[in-house]
Amino acid sequence: GQERKRKKSGPAKLTFEEIGGQDNAKQELREALDFLIRHEDIKKFGIRPLKGILLTGPPGTGKTLMAKAAAHYTNSVFVAASGSEFVEMYVGVGAGRIRDLFKDARNRAAKENKQNAIIFIDEIDVIGGKREGGQQREYDQTLNQLLTEMDGIYSQDTPRILVIAATNRKEMLDSALLRPGRFDRLIQVDLPDKKGRAHILRLHADNKPLAPDVDLDKIAEETYGFSGAQLESVMNEAAIYTMREEASMITQRHLSMSIDKVMMGERSDRESNT
Ligand code: ATP
Repeated sequence: GQERKRKKSGPAKLTFEEIGGQDNAKQELREALDFLIRHEDIKKFGIRPLKGILLTGPPGTGKTLMAKAAAHYTNSVFVAASGSEFVEMYVGVGAGRIRDLFKDARNRAAKENKQNAIIFIDEIDVIGGKREGGQQREYDQTLNQLLTEMDGIYSQDTPRILVIAATNRKEMLDSALLRPGRFDRLIQVDLPDKKGRAHILRLHADNKPLAPDVDLDKIAEETYGFSGAQLESVMNEAAIYTMREEASMITQRHLSMSIDKVMMGERSDRESNT
């Protein structure tokens, strides 16, 4: 667990400028983050501090990027984990890992002398999913531990901890998670529209040699329904095609081949899933 967790943690240098499209989501997130930044005002007005933000939306749309940018924006330490890391056969192990995650955030904030910490939990539905057959979720120790940790966030003054969770399946979440004082701020991270796709393509083309014939707006038009992750693949695959041909620049043709490849890949993924 620790090993995997570390990989996603570490310094969060990513900024909101490096996230393409998602104008609404970025704006909403920045507004929510002002709760951390303006903590003195929050106190003055007696506003309940924000503890949890839930990012919802399809895979590969940039939820992880958002959480990292949030850490950068608020000068927070960034600690990340995935819901699947907490699933254990033995009772209590998952709960212990939740405890460690919060301890880790506090320790790192102290060590790096930071006032804020952001804990990112991807795939929150794995630990916070609804129970089948009416079984009470309150008895699940892992979820319970998370709620306990969140309830206790402001028992100490610093670090101010904000938990950002992500899911592709919001409707699966147990309502206990969504109550006030928990994940009560919901931000939808949708598939990018045409303008967003063009923006994402430009960001990922930044370090690549493009031929003058390349029209990224046209590529954006042809990639309806693609996620940010798929658009990143389109640019990457096009660069690979170009290199293999020993050409010096990525052309529109390379990009077209690459769109086909990414689309085909999606289809075979779906077929192997069924
Ligand atoms: P998942 O739900 O599968 O965890 P996610 O929504 O967290 O996905 P990310 O992990 O943030 O998605 O994105 C994966 C990769 O796709 C990023 O590292 C980046 O290269 C690219 N990407 C996704 N969305 C964007 C975006 N809006 N702008 C730029 N790049 C993006």
